Amino acid sequence: MNLEDRVVRVVSGADKPGTDNQVPDLPDCNLYLTDEALVEGVRREGGEDREAELETWGARLGSADLFRLAAEINRQGPTLRSFDRRGARIDVVDFHPGWSEFLSLAFAQGMHGSAWTAPGPGAQVARAAHYLMHGQVEAGSLCPATMTSAAIPLLAREPWFATIQPQLASRQYDGRDVPVIEKRAMMIGMGMTERQGGSDLRANLSHAEPLGEGWFRLTGHKWFLSSPMSDAHLVLARDGDGHSCFYMPRWLDDGRRNPVRLLRLKDKLGNRSNASAEAEFEGAAGRRIGEPGRGIVTLVEMASYTRLDCVLGSTALMRQALVQGIHHARHRQAFGRFLIDQPLMRQVLADLALESEAATALALRLAGAFDRPEQPAEQALRRLLVPAAKFWVCKRAIDVTAECMEVWGGNGYVEDGPMPRLYREAPVNSIWEGSGNVMCLDVLRAARQEPQFVAQAIDGLARAHAGEPGLRAAADRLLAALALDADGQQAMARMVARDLVLLVQADLLLRHAPQVVSRAFVDSRLGADGGDAFGARPVVLASDALLRRAWPD
Ligand SMILES: Cc1cc2nc3c(=O)[nH]c(=O)nc-3n(C[C@H](O)[C@H](O)[C@H](O)COP(=O)(O)OP(=O)(O)OC[C@H]3O[C@@H](n4cnc5c(N)ncnc54)[C@H](O)[C@@H]3O)c2cc1C
Repeated sequence: MNLEDRVVRVVSGADKPGTDNQVPDLPDCNLYLTDEALVEGVRREGGEDREAELETWGARLGSADLFRLAAEINRQGPTLRSFDRRGARIDVVDFHPGWSEFLSLAFAQGMHGSAWTAPGPGAQVARAAHYLMHGQVEAGSLCPATMTSAAIPLLAREPWFATIQPQLASRQYDGRDVPVIEKRAMMIGMGMTERQGGSDLRANLSHAEPLGEGWFRLTGHKWFLSSPMSDAHLVLARDGDGHSCFYMPRWLDDGRRNPVRLLRLKDKLGNRSNASAEAEFEGAAGRRIGEPGRGIVTLVEMASYTRLDCVLGSTALMRQALVQGIHHARHRQAFGRFLIDQPLMRQVLADLALESEAATALALRLAGAFDRPEQPAEQALRRLLVPAAKFWVCKRAIDVTAECMEVWGGNGYVEDGPMPRLYREAPVNSIWEGSGNVMCLDVLRAARQEPQFVAQAIDGLARAHAGEPGLRAAADRLLAALALDADGQQAMARMVARDLVLLVQADLLLRHAPQVVSRAFVDSRLGADGGDAFGARPVVLASDALLRRAWPD
């Protein structure tokens, strides 16, 4: 090393770790035990019997090595291999070896279907808790787990379900590209979106001609087909009865590849470990599922499950971004004080912590409602709140990850650290499975289906907290918006979805969270203006107790 190099290194402090004001990586930690809102929510919503398992997984998923591997598989994303050495069409996607490790973890936790294949009290809540932890480490692998899980209740109604049931129930991931019949486990994807549009599915052009015995010949394309190496996809296509849903396997039972051509992989902003393809069906075989001509209804049912997972995935991203933000602020100094001790930074971090805790409480409340399908009120709540939460929580994750990145200053913007990946990952949950506006219009549809229940529920939330004028004002605003004509309601739909979520989050926190959290949440979200940037609230939010609860020292 020459003299100039040495001078630069000594001045920058790079020779002496700990003297350069740079922040150490997060050490190994237990993602379950360090998250008080998660632990309390799991207990409250009926998942307490699963806590031992969640604790074990919390430690495993919180390993710093796993975070490093997750970064790696997102840097070196999948590639398409259309032909084999001899020129035969194979349409295979190659992944970083770490991808199968994350899928193995997802399968071992049961996120690809345990709520259906091992049902029981708290099954949905426990799965949600796994999702909230896994999603903090690696989000791309959540996509195949979600699709597979959401397909199971639909497929379970088919008389031939028993032929694939063992593969769907298996906890041992099997990524081999061979017919399902030869595999331990399988994955299922979903194909609805076409070039001409994904929100209005009635415009779908792919079509199906009967082959006999429930099988059809599918021709057409899909503009987005995620998890293209899945063993089957549920796809929408026109047949003589309108639009129906078809189970389209990757391989046929006679050992031939089903002609589903992968044309190219999308070059995506985030979600880079996971592949999303454009596909062409060249007379692919598909088995009709659900009622003929009711394919959109069938797939909308599937979407009600995947939309809950979007809420869970976004909540996970917020949690990890917040943890990284608080960790950074506890180690980084400016102007002679740690960032965590600067009043303005405390206000920003507290605001972010409230968003994360409220999302966690809501996500687990929704998962609990999925565990209680026999209760009509829980079903109605699910119908109304899932699209509202999909809109609001997924949108908040975009802002939260951006703000947490800024807590890291310039380092937050650099790919060496975790913040760019969290930030890039956030918007997709808001777009796929029904984009923001489509979700808000769905909230209106749900409100129209059960107007009395909805009006009573909104009014009831305000009445339950009679001393909270902010809740009353939000409830009155909601009720007034829902009384408008159709165009007026549509224009107000985002406000309706947001206020519904805020009311429910406020109710959950007022009933279950410590007062330092609930008071700050209600005062900042339902009592004051200034919500356009984190930390810009006209009330002081931060306290030592709130910040310690968010992430222990
Ligand atoms: C990474 C990624 C992976 C994906 N994977 C899959 C997959 O595996 N399978 C699959 O089927 N799809 C997949 N999609 C597609 C996704 O579901 C669609 O992009 C999404 O549903 C929106 O459809 P679109 O892109 O055609 O937008 P459009 O339908 O053209 O909508 C554009 C915008 O208009 C808004 N809009 C639509 N109607 C209205 C209205 N009436 N009033 C007001 N606003 C409206 C929408 O909210 C949206 O913001 C994926 C997308 C991405 C980004």
